[in-house]
Amino acid sequence: MSQLSVRAPLAWLGPGRLVPDARVVCDGGLISAAGPAVEIKRAEREIEIDGFLMPAGADRHVHIERSDPVAVLRGGVTAVRDLAWPADRIFNLADASELVTFNGPLIRAAGPMLTAPGGYPTLASWAPPGTGREVDGPDEAVDAVRELVAAGATAIKVSLNADAGPALGDVELMAVCDAAAIAEIPVTAHAEGAGQVERALGAGVQELAHTPWIRLSDDVIGTAAQRMRWVSTLDILSFGRDTPQIRAALDNLRRFHDAGGSVSYGTDLGNGAIPPGIHTRELLWLRDAGLTNDDVLGALIRSPIVRDAPADLIALGSNPLEELTAFDDIRLVVRSGRVISG
Ligand SMILES: [Zn+2]
Repeated sequence: MSQLSVRAPLAWLGPGRLVPDARVVCDGGLISAAGPAVEIKRAEREIEIDGFLMPAGADRHVHIERSDPVAVLRGGVTAVRDLAWPADRIFNLADASELVTFNGPLIRAAGPMLTAPGGYPTLASWAPPGTGREVDGPDEAVDAVRELVAAGATAIKVSLNADAGPALGDVELMAVCDAAAIAEIPVTAHAEGAGQVERALGAGVQELAHTPWIRLSDDVIGTAAQRMRWVSTLDILSFGRDTPQIRAALDNLRRFHDAGGSVSYGTDLGNGAIPPGIHTRELLWLRDAGLTNDDVLGALIRSPIVRDAPADLIALGSNPLEELTAFDDIRLVVRSGRVISG
């Protein structure tokens, strides 16, 4: 793959790293150099942009088949993680997305959500058959994790949704967490209903797939901040309106962030009216939860721009550290060192 360099009057290479007159060099799908333009040799092919250069976005919670991969990529999201879809469909798509010719983002996938017999999302209207995999007993739970790992899962999703049927039982939940730990992949939970976040914490679940939208105590939040990452998915609680759910979620997330908890951008794309690509309103909610704009950019990206990071870049028409609405004006998208638009 050929070399490409991008020069910009201002670049944000990662949290706290703002560089005026910067150059970023992509080589073979990876970053080979980045920093002040005077210090870095340009590639034979160079794009000069009049805007703000930064790493591309990553969406850690999508259902990609319910959206448009082409529009996702053109909207500045070069990597997504699919958190519940039938195994026979999503893993083939994820494999195809590894190739540079794939017209969409890189797709990582959890495959189906592990749930109790009759549990969420087996009866959910958005979920085709196979989006939930029912497990009954620890042996079935371990088998399911092993099969998903062999199929290429990069995370295991568990359904702890007590408001929409039976939640995964304790025995199964512990077996899933143990098997995932052996496979060295994280467990992410849909935790909904009283006490379910506490169960996830007790079992050692590393991530919540949504910011919880019932109020959690300071004690629970403090423990969660030490042990867990939360995927934001704030706008699906609101779609821009003031709702009790968004208020509770912002209150939880503010305390989680204040306590040092790690937050990642995710939209639950495919679930309701979330537009493809970087969703500015999700970023504005993160700011409302107390993140600085620098924190928000940190939550959005897959990786800072460092040597050997994926050569995934975007350029914006203005500086998002001043106004996050800069994400409404994406001028350039580069995935794996390849220019997608602009
Ligand atoms: Zn979802």
